[in-house]
Amino acid sequence: MTEACPGCGAAGLELFYEVERVPVHSCRLVATREEALSFPTGRLALALCHACGLITNAAFEPGLQDYSVDYEETQAFSPRFVGFIEELARRWVETHGLRGRRVLEIGSGKGEFLLLLHELGVADAIGIDPGFVPGRVDERPGLRFLRELYSERHASLGPDAIVCRHTLEHIQPVAEFMRLIRSPLDGHEVLLFELPDVLRVLREGAFWDMYYEHTSYFSPGSLARLFRATGFDVVELELAYDDQYILLAARPGASGPTLPLEEEAGVVAEAVDGFRTAYEATRERWRERLTAAERPVIWGSGSKGVAFLTTLGPGLELAVDVNPHKQGKFLAGSGVEVVAPDALRGYEPDLVVAMNAVYLDEIRQTLSELGVRTALEGV
Ligand SMILES: [Zn+2]
Repeated sequence: MTEACPGCGAAGLELFYEVERVPVHSCRLVATREEALSFPTGRLALALCHACGLITNAAFEPGLQDYSVDYEETQAFSPRFVGFIEELARRWVETHGLRGRRVLEIGSGKGEFLLLLHELGVADAIGIDPGFVPGRVDERPGLRFLRELYSERHASLGPDAIVCRHTLEHIQPVAEFMRLIRSPLDGHEVLLFELPDVLRVLREGAFWDMYYEHTSYFSPGSLARLFRATGFDVVELELAYDDQYILLAARPGASGPTLPLEEEAGVVAEAVDGFRTAYEATRERWRERLTAAERPVIWGSGSKGVAFLTTLGPGLELAVDVNPHKQGKFLAGSGVEVVAPDALRGYEPDLVVAMNAVYLDEIRQTLSELGVRTALEGV
């Protein structure tokens, strides 16, 4: 068990949420139902640091994680998401003058975002990710991928900007990681980070957003405090994508003024108290909805879907996903099968639960095109 805060080092973390037998990889593609049902599990024991507001999985065992194979985290098959990352890439390139520069992306996934930056004029785009799959995004002059974890060895690359999207929440020793990034920088660089906002998750009782790969949970305030404590000045802090994500820009340097979005650690503590009661009610409501439906399905087979079913118990047979790389596979833990949207034609569900309400319009449109009549609700 982690005893001290991995962000600020304070002792006395407060445990507030526990789930047993959580699949250690909720994005992992599994070929058979048997394999899905016997998938390795770990324990979720989320604990709050009252000093800095960071939430960490105190029971996290890094040895259970392996991001090098069959890791399907990409959302790049959703038009809504593609629109969001295109706009973000454009903004970052414009605002931070990245044209003609060298950009390092830590945790570049399958490479879609880095490709966008390159197409927008970044001269030397380098992605670092052990889960990179050659072929999805082709390397070309000025765009390359290193299939490894970020380490001291990459310090000599001398980037003008470091991009890191949806990665820091997968790392437990976050202060150590930020210092590793900070040490070789000479001060001219800009850091551009994006990650989920835990305040929204807590306030909505969104237990489907708490899963094993996410070992660190940040609010805008706790994220900014981590950056300041590890040698950065936070220059921009905002929420995006229906307030689901935090966007942060920082530069090496002494701490500047705090920004409007930086709440105190006490605000996270209040949200944690709210979560304790909201969670029970939300869980029971969904349990009843799924039980009352005859053929419910979920839409979205990523981590949210896996966490949703891990907490509620399966209670359904199919998960729909627009990502063709996931179709025909099974969800870790529950063994629920992943199908393409058109499989719903013959299945005739009476309830579709969208695992991200952001996609409701997109899903409604697809259901209508398929001629599938069903209730549709978002978590
Ligand atoms: Zn702390």
